[in-house]
This record gives sequence, structure tokens and C-alpha cells, in this order.
Amino acid sequence: MNMKKRIVVKVGSNVLTMAEGKLNITRMSALVDQIAWLRWHNYEVILVSSGAVACGRKELQVDHMLDSVEQRQLFSAMGQVKLINLYYDLFREYGLHIGQVLTTKENFSTERTFQNQRACMEVMLENGVIPVVNENDTVSIEELMFTDNDELSGLIAQMMNAQTLVLLSNVDGIYTGNPASPESEVIRTIKPGEDLSRYIQTEKSSAGRGGMASKYKTASNVAAAGIKVIIANGNRENILKDLAERPSETIHTEFSGN
Ligand code: GLU
Repeated sequence: MNMKKRIVVKVGSNVLTMAEGKLNITRMSALVDQIAWLRWHNYEVILVSSGAVACGRKELQVDHMLDSVEQRQLFSAMGQVKLINLYYDLFREYGLHIGQVLTTKENFSTERTFQNQRACMEVMLENGVIPVVNENDTVSIEELMFTDNDELSGLIAQMMNAQTLVLLSNVDGIYTGNPASPESEVIRTIKPGEDLSRYIQTEKSSAGRGGMASKYKTASNVAAAGIKVIIANGNRENILKDLAERPSETIHTEFSGN
């Protein structure tokens, strides 16, 4: 039996961009190396990548005030082009094809749009193309947006019947307290139904929309649907490879599926 394992990897803006909002090309390239490795080891990979808005901000000096919707639309439109171009170049070095899927929450709300979207990603995977997914921030209507790409990646993992969802952020997992405090430890396994909300930090890091509270919510929901969810640090060298090869020695939080 040589069954392919399907994995959704979500990479947050804080992993992909540096403090000043510039794309962290070294980091992106390291992640692409590892995704290529996963592909060679019989994984089908769907990449959910944030970073459009954060990297679009760097592209243009605007000399007048833009409201938050205008900023999101303008910067995501510009930043997404840059992001996908870079992924294209990096994956091409490995002879891997990527395809861009930009979506909105409304696409998950009716059977017709849901099935259409699923069919699109199935045909990509069947043909060896890696879907690179993001919210279509340019045209999403604010009230109808995903909370963040954590929510989006959870919906994708369920829609595509993935075995595993990996949420890569800039911390090692869910801690028993403030990650900065030396007494805090990463909680290694969270069992179905276990309530850890008392440990979740509500403050979030700067670049993206998500945060640990939202990761916890997505992870709990997706794990309840029987999918293994991992929260790990995308800044750690070889994190995806280590999670696949030697998970017990690799720091992360796992929500076990039912
Ligand atoms: N879709 C947004 C972007 O690409 C990110 C949303 C999030 O931070 O989760 O910039």
C-alpha cells in the first residue's frame, strides 16, 4: 500500500515577513525546500499562505490616508502578486508546479460553490500541482471575511479530507502561560474535548489577523472533525521535516483527532 497522505500547511504573515514588513525570502525558501521534501515522501500538500497584505505594504509609498478597507484591498492586490511570484520561482527550482487559489468565505457557504472549489483543488492535486491558497482580500466584504487564515486553513483541511493540518506561527505551540516567561512550557498533546482556554494568550503578534486564541479555536474544531492539528514554529529550521520524521523529539502542540 502506498497511500498518499494529505497535509494542509498554513504559514502566517509573521513567519513570512520580517519586522519591517519585507518578505523573508530565506524563510520562504526554507519552507519550500521542506514542502518539496514532503512531496518526495508521498505527501500531497496544500499550502495556505498569508502575507499578501503585509508584503504589499512595502511595495508602495502612499502619501495620503487610506481607510482600513482601502489599505487591505490595495496592499493585498499588490502583495499577492509578489508572494505568488516568489513561490513560483522557488518551487520551480524543484520542478514543482503550483497553482493559486484565492477564495472567500461565501465560497464555503453554498453546496454549489463548496463543491466547485473542492473539485478545483482535487484536480490540481491529482495532477501534481500544489495549491497555494489565500483569502481573496481584494474583493472580500469585511463583515463576511474569514476571521483569519487559521480559520480558512481549517475549512480547507476539512473540505479536502486532509489527515493533518499544520499551523505554522512564530511560537512553538500553546504554552501553559506567557511564552516569554521561563516557567511556561509547551503543551505537547491536547486530547479531544480537553478545555485549555485558560492557557490561551489573547494578545497577538503584529503582522497577521490571527493569534493564539483563534488558532486554538480552529484547532479544536478541526480536531473534533477527526483531523490531526499541529501548532508549531515556522521559524525553526526543518520544522516540517522534523514533524514528519521525528515528531516526539520536535517541539509542538498536537490536537489529536477523534
Ligand atoms: N489574507 C491575509 C494576507 O494574506 C492574512 C490573514 C491572516 O493574517 O490570517 O495578508
